[in-house]
Amino acid sequence: MPNSQIHNMTLVELKKALNEKNLSSREITETLLSRINDFDDSVNSFITMTSDQAIKEAMEADKKIANGDQTNLTGLPFAHKDLFCTKGTLTTCGSKMLHNFIPPYDATVVKKLKNAGVIMLGKTNMDEFAMGSSNETSYYGSVGNPWDLKLSPGGSSGGSAAAVAARLVPAATGTDTGGSIRQPAALTGITGIKPTYGRVSRYGMIAFASSLDQGGVFARSCEDAALILGEMAGLDELDSTSSAEKVPNYLESINHPIKDLKIGLVKQHFEEGLDEENKKNLLSAIDTLKSQGAEVIEIDLPNIGLSVPTYYVVASAECSSNLSRYDGVRFGHRTENYENLEEFYSKTRGEGFGAEVKRRIMTGTYVLSAGYYDAYYLKAQKVRQLISQDFKNAFEKVDVIAGPTTPSPAFELGAKMDDPIEMYLNDIFTIGANLGGFPAISVPCGFVNDLPVGLQLVGKHFGEESLFQCGHQFQQLTDWHKQTPEQFK
Ligand code: GLN
Repeated sequence: MPNSQIHNMTLVELKKALNEKNLSSREITETLLSRINDFDDSVNSFITMTSDQAIKEAMEADKKIANGDQTNLTGLPFAHKDLFCTKGTLTTCGSKMLHNFIPPYDATVVKKLKNAGVIMLGKTNMDEFAMGSSNETSYYGSVGNPWDLKLSPGGSSGGSAAAVAARLVPAATGTDTGGSIRQPAALTGITGIKPTYGRVSRYGMIAFASSLDQGGVFARSCEDAALILGEMAGLDELDSTSSAEKVPNYLESINHPIKDLKIGLVKQHFEEGLDEENKKNLLSAIDTLKSQGAEVIEIDLPNIGLSVPTYYVVASAECSSNLSRYDGVRFGHRTENYENLEEFYSKTRGEGFGAEVKRRIMTGTYVLSAGYYDAYYLKAQKVRQLISQDFKNAFEKVDVIAGPTTPSPAFELGAKMDDPIEMYLNDIFTIGANLGGFPAISVPCGFVNDLPVGLQLVGKHFGEESLFQCGHQFQQLTDWHKQTPEQFK
């Protein structure tokens, strides 16, 4: 098999080539590392490379395969969002605050994937502490969208999405608090799934908003995402919110026909905020699903319009509490010049955090303070319940809710940085799933102005199998997910 094709192969294809001994893990690893070396100066999708370790592990993987000792993912290349703690490897969370943080332990997701056999090539760029929709809040610089490097790949997991879209790595982890897997997946033309809250352990995932954060995966097909999620998911005694629900074999059930599936189309999605062209793509994607026998039903999510303000109260409140641990005493950035303890804290935090993180901490502290708590935080929690209940009511009638992932395709770097509200509105279609803890996937469904857009499918709690089945059927009938940005073919 020619090495010139390695970057275009999916995980499923690479796995087959490894097991049939047509390729070695070392060849795959070295080919992709050299591709990253050639291309990543312009994309900036990686913060840290772990090249030497990767080659060493690839050679060990080759030995295992030769001896027939391989596990499910032995020798397959992978990358982690720089929010997952990796033992002995710098983990910055995109922040100056953690520019020197080398965790003494692996996140559960990292550990599980390592045990399954993946080779980590490096850690990917991201918005600072996962706060952002464009990857521009990263201390390590913005990331270019492989479809046009002047555009944003979305965020907060922009580095993982761009690396997969530019064929630098076939799959990578992401995290999604309000859309940070699905929005960048849509804007870079790849597949991204945020599982049910609790499906994947959050242990060792640096916290932003704990009741919303969930780890997931980016890949170039539903099959690849299913393969990875199966290994990431499951109960973890180190995360009390992880679920004991059995993890199905997502790959085994992915070919299940969708003829009995009921798909909901949200009335409110068509009322505002959606580009005309984007709408056309969405409706044609729905027709494709209908052609497989799926029944389409209109549903009503009456409170969905409140999801963005609700999210920004809840997420900011939780982040102000989670980020109070960065005080310069135990780890991370520490100021050099201070006269007293108060100055030590304020200078450390003032220097370590960027503008967006400070804005969220201030908003969060405000909505939690005495006198404002009832008016903002408590009210937001009540509205969150209403939104969640709307979804549950809809799921009495349908199995999956389909809609757009984003209002429009990728935007220019810098275009929204001066207008936080405009930036926040990027997540208008994704946030609902986080507020209710529902799983959701984005799959490429067409192009607007030569830029990819995504179809979002939201499922019932622990309904990831239906999402994969639906997405996979769609990918059997279309080739949007196979489109490659010209520069990265
Ligand atoms: N863009 C949203 C925010 O800025 C969501 C981020 C995320 O999902 N991590 O908060």
